[in-house]
Amino acid sequence: MFKGTAASDGIGIGNIMIIEEHALSYSPQAVTDTDAETQRYTDAVNSFCESTAAKADSLRKSAGEKEAEILEGHIQILKDPYLNGEIEKLIANGTCAESALEQMCDQFITVFSMADDELTKQRAADVKDIKTGMLSILLGIQEVKISDAPKGTVLVAHELTPSMTAGIVKENIIGIVTETGGKTSHSAILARALEIPAVLSVDDAVSKLANGQQIIVDGSEGIVIYSPDEAQIESYTQKRNMFLQERRELENYRGRKTLSASGEEYELCCNIGNSEDAVKAMEFDGEGVGLFRTEFLFMDRNSMPTEEEQFEAYKKAALILKGKPLIIRTLDIGGDKDLPYLGLKKEENPFMGFRAIRYCLKNEELFTSQIRAILRASAFGDIRIMFPLVTTVDELREGKKLVKKLKLELSSENIDFDKDIKVGVMVETSSAAVIADLLAKEADFFSIGTNDLTGYTMACDRGNSDVSYLYSPLQPSVLRMIKNIIECGIKNNIPVGICGEAAANPMMIPLLISFGLTEFSVSAPSVLKVRKTITQWTKQEADKVAEKVMTFATEKEITDYLKAII
Ligand code: PEP
Ligand code: MG
Repeated sequence: MFKGTAASDGIGIGNIMIIEEHALSYSPQAVTDTDAETQRYTDAVNSFCESTAAKADSLRKSAGEKEAEILEGHIQILKDPYLNGEIEKLIANGTCAESALEQMCDQFITVFSMADDELTKQRAADVKDIKTGMLSILLGIQEVKISDAPKGTVLVAHELTPSMTAGIVKENIIGIVTETGGKTSHSAILARALEIPAVLSVDDAVSKLANGQQIIVDGSEGIVIYSPDEAQIESYTQKRNMFLQERRELENYRGRKTLSASGEEYELCCNIGNSEDAVKAMEFDGEGVGLFRTEFLFMDRNSMPTEEEQFEAYKKAALILKGKPLIIRTLDIGGDKDLPYLGLKKEENPFMGFRAIRYCLKNEELFTSQIRAILRASAFGDIRIMFPLVTTVDELREGKKLVKKLKLELSSENIDFDKDIKVGVMVETSSAAVIADLLAKEADFFSIGTNDLTGYTMACDRGNSDVSYLYSPLQPSVLRMIKNIIECGIKNNIPVGICGEAAANPMMIPLLISFGLTEFSVSAPSVLKVRKTITQWTKQEADKVAEKVMTFATEKEITDYLKAII
C-alpha cells in the first residue's frame, strides 16, 4: 500500500498504464544552413500549436473551459516574443533547433521553479511540458496515446501534464497516480473536473509499479493498493459502489429548492476564486455565490489588476449567475497570502498583522479601484460587497464611507451601478463575533468565516499539527460565537450566512439551522450533499439537538453526541 495526496474523490480499480517519459536524447550539431534550421524550428512550432489547439478543443468538451485554457496558455508561452527571439538568435549563431529550444526552456524552468508561490511554480511545469512536446516533434518521436488506453486503465506517471491529459477518454480512465503534484496542481484540477479518482505525490510510483498490473486507487483517502488480494478487491468494490450510489442519489437533489424537512427555505450558494468558477457553481446547482475570494485575481501576476480588468472579471461572474446573488469579498491579502509586487513587509505574526481590510483602508488607491470595479459590475447582476477580517465598527464605517464616496463619483461620471448595493461584514475574528450586536446595526448582512473564526477564537494555527486537536468549529467557544452572531443578525433584521468550511460539515448543519442561519456557502462539489443534509432536519429536531449540544462542556462530548445521532 502507498500513501499520497488525496486529490480527486472516488475509487478506481483497474490496470496500470505507465506513461513513461521518452529519452529525448540527441547530440547537439553545429548548424551551417541556419535559414533551413530556423525553418525547421518554425515548422515544429506551427505543428505544436496546431496539435495543442486541437487537444484544447477536445479538453474543452470533456473537462471544461478552464482546463482548455491551461493548454491554450502553452501556445502563448511558446509564441512569447522574448523566448522565440532568443531561440532564433541561438539558431542564427549556429546552434541546432533542439539545443536552442532546450537552453531557453531550461532558463525559464529554473526561474519559475525558484518562485515561492505555487502558481508560478506551475509555470515551470508548463514550460517543461512545452519543451517535451517540441523536442518530440523536432526528433520525430511519437507521443504516447492516452486516448488509446483501454477501459479500466489507471494512469501512472511522474507528472501528468495538461497536454498528456488532453487525450483522456473519461469512460476508460478510472484512476490517476502521479509522483508529483498537490491538491492545486493542474493534474488535480483536471482529475476533479473529469471526476476521475486521483492520488498524487506517491513517491517513486513509476519505478515501483508495473504496466498491466492490477491496482486500487482511493482518491478520497489518498491510498494506492498495488496487486490487491481478493479481500481488498471485494471491500474496495463495495466502497466504490457506495460512493457511486451516493453520487447518483445526490442527483435527485438537483434543481430543487433547499428546504428543511419542516419547510424552512435556505439559500445554498458556492464559494468561488475566479469568474470561471461561477460556471462550476451553476453546473453544481449553486443558488448563487456566497463568497468570491477576489485575491486570486491579484495573484499569479507581476502587477495589480487594473480597475478595468477587475470590472470585466466581476461583470463576467455576474452575467454567468444571471441575477443570482454574488457576494464579492474585497481583497483579503496578507497572512498566508502574499503578493510580491505589493512589497508587503515581513511580519513576526502575519495572521495578526497588516492584512485584508486593514491594508486596503490604508491603501486607498488600491481599494478605490476594487470598489469602483465592483460598483460598476453591480449594474449587471445582484452584487454585494463584503469586507474581510473586520475587528471594529470603525473599519466598517470607513469602508462604507469609501463606497459612498465612490458612488457619488460614479454618478457624476454617469456610470451605472446598483444604488442600493448591500455592504456586509465577514465575521471571522473573535472581536467581530463579540461585537456582532454593534456591527449588525450598521452592516447589511453577515457571513460567518468559520475557518478564521475558529483559528482566532482557539488561538490556534490550523497549519500546526501540534495544536490541530484544538482547531474545530464544534468547540463550545466557537459555537457560542456563531450563535451570538446569528442572534444579533436576527435581532437587527439582517441576513446571516456562513462561508467557512464548517458550512458543509453534517454535524454543524442542524446547529446552524437551529441558531437561525439562512444562507450556506460551500465549495461547488458539496452543494447537493449539503442540500440533502438540510432536507433531513426539521427545525424542531434541530432545536432539540442544539439545545443538548449547548449543555456539553467539551468538543469531545459534542462530537461524540453528534456522531451517535447522525
Ligand atoms: C473563512 O475564514 O472562513 C473564509 C471563508 O475565508 P478564507 O478561508 O478565505 O480565509
Ligand atoms: Mg478568512
